[in-house]
Amino acid sequence: MTQSLLPPAHVFTGAHPGPRVLLLAGVHGDETPGIDGLSGLLPQLGATVTHGTLTVITPVNRAAVAAQTRFLESDLNRLWSAEQQARLADTPPSQHTHEEALARELSAHLQAADFVLDLHSTGQPSRPFLYCEHTPAHRAIATQIGVSTIVYGNPDWRLPSLTSSIDNFVDQHGGLGFTLESGWKSDPSTIPLIQSCIWRFLSLTGTTQTPPNHLRPLPETVEQFLPTHEVQAPSSEAIPLVEWASFTPIEAKQPLLRGSPPTLSPVNGVLLFPKSNFTAGHLATYIATPL
Ligand SMILES: [Zn+2]
Repeated sequence: MTQSLLPPAHVFTGAHPGPRVLLLAGVHGDETPGIDGLSGLLPQLGATVTHGTLTVITPVNRAAVAAQTRFLESDLNRLWSAEQQARLADTPPSQHTHEEALARELSAHLQAADFVLDLHSTGQPSRPFLYCEHTPAHRAIATQIGVSTIVYGNPDWRLPSLTSSIDNFVDQHGGLGFTLESGWKSDPSTIPLIQSCIWRFLSLTGTTQTPPNHLRPLPETVEQFLPTHEVQAPSSEAIPLVEWASFTPIEAKQPLLRGSPPTLSPVNGVLLFPKSNFTAGHLATYIATPL
């Protein structure tokens, strides 16, 4: 029998029937706030689950955590589109990378879950945001989880790079998937926010009736965005003319990248996932527009 790459799952079952909820951290090995935030709650979770089953898997990629790196061989959060899954199914397991083998193990947990919250953080300082699909069921949870920014998948613009994450796979298999990007991965001060979001998620899914009373207050306003455009780099030496970070506000026709002529923003919106290295004719940044 081959040894499991995933750590043992913590499973907490409530006294009453209810949803199957899965919490994940450490899909990327160097995103420690989610790992620390989730493991810090583990001693309390068992006593609070009243309905259904809560499964906690952390850290998902133990080898990458040990190596203090995002992944060893392939990005574990880019293997989940139908195309990637078909490719994995067509490849002999002996040829799979470490993360592809992990994905095979994780797949059954994702397919069995009704709700999945996957905890991530960003490589650069960023405001916290939630990423999920744009349906009423997703919105009902996303707007109440306690972050002031939500980015939805655009149902009319299915980009491979934005549709191959774990939350996408959960949605393909009948569940509701959510990715929390809690802020900069080197900022441990985000941990209380992560833990508050976990409690609210458990409460919103009906898993626990008794969230602790020290939850962070809900933000007064929630900004919601849909990725709608992509901007290509005119050259590999392109120099940004705006703060090159997600959620930098931009206006239609505003110059974004130096050049002759400069690259202009197609619409009013915000930058989303801008690249730090440019290749001429390839993606420089997505643009998201407010809902
Ligand atoms: Zn991540």
